[in-house]
Amino acid sequence: MVLQANKIKFLLILLLPLFFAIAVIVLSHFHLYNCIWKTITGHACPGCGMTRAFYSLLHGNVKAAYEYNHLIIIVVPLFVYLWIKLLMKNTPYK
Ligand SMILES: [Zn+2]
Repeated sequence: MVLQANKIKFLLILLLPLFFAIAVIVLSHFHLYNCIWKTITGHACPGCGMTRAFYSLLHGNVKAAYEYNHLIIIVVPLFVYLWIKLLMKNTPYK
């Protein structure tokens, strides 16, 4: 029973990029997210444009992604690294 729970947890972690992609698509497509910092101050924060950058990346447009937010070149490898580390930590196949 414990092994089954570990496999389900591993599967959910494995599917995290898919859930993330769906969240980015929904947020971008329906314009559901506004930056609180930009709303209050009128100035962009370091994360501004990141959702659009991910959305562009999902469509294979790397140049547009970089133009929306330059930090995408740091954030994507970091997310991939953390995802792989989480997968390795929670693998039931040891
Ligand atoms: Zn912002």
